[in-house]
Amino acid sequence: MTAIAIPPSIASRPSAQWLSKPKQLLINNQWVDPQGGETFDVFNPATGEVIAQVAAGEAADIDKAVKAARRAFEDGPWKKMTPSERGKIVWRIGELIDQHCDELAELETLDNGKPLAVAKVADVPLAGDIFRYMAGYATKLEGNTIPISVLYAPDSQFHAFTLREPVGVVGQIIPWNFPLLMAAWKLAPALACGCTVVLKPAEQTPLSAMRLGELALEAGLPEGVLNIVTGLGETAGAALASHNDVDKVAFTGSTEVGKMIVNAATGNLKKVTLELGGKSPNVIFKDADLNTAIPGAASAIFFNHGQCCCAGSRLYVEKEIFDEVASGIAEEAKKITVGDGFDENTVMGPLVSQEQFDRVTKYMDIGLNSGAKALCGGSANEAAKDGGYYVNPTILVDTHEQMQVVQEEIFGPVVTAMSFTDPEEIVARSNDSIYGLAAGVWTADISRAHRLAKAIKAGTVWVNCYNVFDSAMPFGGYKQSGWGREMGHEVLNNYLQTKSVCIGL
Ligand code: NAP
Ligand code: MG
Repeated sequence: MTAIAIPPSIASRPSAQWLSKPKQLLINNQWVDPQGGETFDVFNPATGEVIAQVAAGEAADIDKAVKAARRAFEDGPWKKMTPSERGKIVWRIGELIDQHCDELAELETLDNGKPLAVAKVADVPLAGDIFRYMAGYATKLEGNTIPISVLYAPDSQFHAFTLREPVGVVGQIIPWNFPLLMAAWKLAPALACGCTVVLKPAEQTPLSAMRLGELALEAGLPEGVLNIVTGLGETAGAALASHNDVDKVAFTGSTEVGKMIVNAATGNLKKVTLELGGKSPNVIFKDADLNTAIPGAASAIFFNHGQCCCAGSRLYVEKEIFDEVASGIAEEAKKITVGDGFDENTVMGPLVSQEQFDRVTKYMDIGLNSGAKALCGGSANEAAKDGGYYVNPTILVDTHEQMQVVQEEIFGPVVTAMSFTDPEEIVARSNDSIYGLAAGVWTADISRAHRLAKAIKAGTVWVNCYNVFDSAMPFGGYKQSGWGREMGHEVLNNYLQTKSVCIGL
């Protein structure tokens, strides 16, 4: 067994004490060992050292968790609870997240690499907020009364209405880029709707979801309502997606695995929602306020080290201002201190894993070898020589749509910058992608802003801003960026189904 290295930066903090406990599976409100007795290593991306050994759940554990979730859904106190009681528990989870902000943020930095200050102001508060936002819906899941005409029975009278019912046992599979927040986006609406859940966190970042599991029990979730099975995608994830007693699977991750989830779901035709990859266009017109557009475009790609499904990774700049914008973003990039997320000066931490480091640096090479030029970055950061997964924020110019780096999702701090001359052509170029998750438009022309917002095929269009998220605003993809929406009241459709009731009077 590899020795566990807890970084000195957190040695005296609550997160370090928590880390030293065994990392088991949460099934039926008990923390239990996996049936196969296996574990997998979890790494500190800042150093490459092992920070935890976590239970490797497999198909048998998924089956046990699904059975617990099924019992809880059909017969448990959860089903009998009033909406108000259910909402109160969901709300309490949000409160407990806020109360444990420092500890959760530390786990996030340790596990994912993101700067602690970012985890404290973004990841953790947003996670708490979505529980409180969704808690309110528990008491508002209303159907309609429907005046029906029934053409072939003109002399009869009917009373028709709809009920909004929880879809049942839900499997949720989440990625590593916002480990706690992705768990929260999935769990909060599912619980508010009265579903029961089996959650599989990403193998790279399982820690904050496990701590969230403890807080959810503290908030009063009854037995079996939330089960957490850590493990690998190919085993635990695949078993969850294909399980015949799971009514619905909600997935966030790569488009490639999203397609595997769809295939796996065919056995019992479980419902599927998907939040997948992107290659989002970010368009800057010459009339834009460059004092906001330049730092905005930098943040669109460099926030979370570019490990955002909605990262503004295809930059289009009107020709007259191209050089000014590209060099302005390069200046922003040079101001970014790359380092350990626990260091106060760090703006960009390491990438999440060796695999992701290899992937991003490979794409940098592919871009440079196919004729692109790096205005800044274009390589690993020198801090990587000590074992951390550090890369430099990168702007690639001399790029065009046929290049692999322009077509494919890199999922790192690498933006491809291109110019345009004809404002009319920019819609077609923006839409020239298999993806359609998000887009940015920077302009002072309000009519153009509205025209583009309508014409761009993306689930979110940000105008004169980027990466604005709110629990109330739906998020999700057009085209191969996904099925369904998260957040806002739209997400309730993912976890409810509608029953029509018709009474002959
Ligand atoms: P991924 O493989 O799609 O992983 C997402 C989740 O799916 C993880 O929990 C993963 O488990 C699980 N999984 C993997 N294979 C599975 C299978 N056959 N059946 C069921 N579940 C499975 O993403 P990744 O490997 O972490 O990252 C690869 C690329 O995906 C990234 O470089 C990026 O382009 C994209 N990505 C997109 C998002 C997004 O928010 N849209 C997030 C993360 C990554 P394991 O953790 O064990 O693999
Ligand atoms: Mg994977």
